[in-house]
Amino acid sequence: PFPPPAEAWCNRFATLGLAFFTELPAQALPNPHWVATSDACATLLGWPADTWATPDALAVFSGHTTWPGMRPLASVYSGHQFGQWAGRLGDGRALLLGEVDTPHGPQEIQLKGAGRTPYSRMGDGRAVLRSSIREFLCSEAMHALGIPTTRALCLIGSPEPVRRERVETAAVVARVAPSFLRFGHFEHFAHSGQHAALRQLFEFTLTHHFPACRDSDAPALAFLREVTQRTADLLAQWQAVGFCHGVMNTDNMSVLGLTLDYGPFGFLDAHDPEHICNHSDTSGRYAYAHQPHIAWWNLYALAQALVPLVGSGEGEPAEVERIRAELDTFSPTFEARTRALWQAKLGLRTHQAEDRTLVRELLTLMTQDRADHTITLRRLGEFSTAPDARNDRVRDLFLRPEAFDAWAQRYAARLCAEGSVDAERQARMAGVNPKYVLRNHLAEEAIVAAEAGDVSAVQRLLKVLQRPFDEQPEHDALAGFPPDWAGQLQVSCSS
Ligand code: AMP
Ligand code: MG
Ligand code: MG
Repeated sequence: PFPPPAEAWCNRFATLGLAFFTELPAQALPNPHWVATSDACATLLGWPADTWATPDALAVFSGHTTWPGMRPLASVYSGHQFGQWAGRLGDGRALLLGEVDTPHGPQEIQLKGAGRTPYSRMGDGRAVLRSSIREFLCSEAMHALGIPTTRALCLIGSPEPVRRERVETAAVVARVAPSFLRFGHFEHFAHSGQHAALRQLFEFTLTHHFPACRDSDAPALAFLREVTQRTADLLAQWQAVGFCHGVMNTDNMSVLGLTLDYGPFGFLDAHDPEHICNHSDTSGRYAYAHQPHIAWWNLYALAQALVPLVGSGEGEPAEVERIRAELDTFSPTFEARTRALWQAKLGLRTHQAEDRTLVRELLTLMTQDRADHTITLRRLGEFSTAPDARNDRVRDLFLRPEAFDAWAQRYAARLCAEGSVDAERQARMAGVNPKYVLRNHLAEEAIVAAEAGDVSAVQRLLKVLQRPFDEQPEHDALAGFPPDWAGQLQVSCSS
């Protein structure tokens, strides 16, 4: 049955109690209209593909009404922002509508941009259409890339004016995840000395999201290990695809290891370790190559919040040592996953000690010659080991083709040594190195069209991004180099 009956809304987070959230209704978005919808996300929920045709769906997801059983609330969390303790933050414009049973387990449905909450501080509780389009598209694009992420169900616009650097219009994204729990939720209760609540949150998290950790003789350490490994795994995937998050504050880090809070993110165009995607990040704290270390720093902040839950809870030296040992699993996990990802990206079926050098040299060449991250790897998937092959399509991406030739010779030798067959390897690599990623200029084109009233551009782009590994030759234009004007695009924390 659809909408889900009242008893399908399990609302587990709401059982935690008033220390954890404030119950309040959404502030209705005036004159709402559909901008885009994700049938794939509706399917995840076990909902019909025409969910959007349900008479009150638009009213529900724009905050005008609720379905029976929903229990809207805003949760409280804290966090470290740009390396500094920021104190209490919380869902300042997000609102959990409720948690619903689905064929894939319970899922939380959250509106982002649903109005002011007790955690809004100076903010207006709204999100602009521009940043909502970016979050909606990238959530679904990342999922299609196989990268853990919160999902996006639908995007609704409104003529309601919202003041940022200029006056824009408001929008709401309905997003979906098994849980939106952040590192910052744990930090909140640890730093404010609410240790009973911290333990309650911890027990809740284990029961519903990490049941295997319950059986450990040291559950807090087992939990930290699991979050560390999921985060390391996520970061390896971000780095491999060239994704830069932009605001890796601890309040934007999911304990489930999901990509969370899409703001001033960006995909690499030219491969550049120092690339900073967030115009507000003046020191480059969150530059592309720094992300794994920042993730580890954030895990360290989470670990500090878990100290009261380990052993005596006093942070004895032996306990601190055990915590450190869990954090130390980050690097080996990240390295192992990175190695496996790059092995696949290069089409290698075996692992050899020298592969690390082969990958590092390719990335150095790409950096020096500003070769496009996505296009280079996609075209490497057309590489031929035939003795007379020049591999011009990928070779031409380098300013110094001879330098590429020297690398290509070693690559070809490596492939031949494992008896690699061109056609078979090429097919495999096309399934690993995406053709389509949500570059800033693609999002910008959809945003400009939507702001001018043509919202169909967002839905069209979504369809292409949902099949990032498929050739889709009719959409070649969306897989090209960024236009010159893309260099002038600035995305910042303003959203
Ligand atoms: P962010 O930098 O987007 O991760 O947001 C950090 C904190 O600011 C979170 O607590 C958000 O809920 C809050 N916040 C961001 N923008 C707004 C807004 N327009 N209105 C209210 N709160 C906001
Ligand atoms: Mg955030
Ligand atoms: Mg945000």
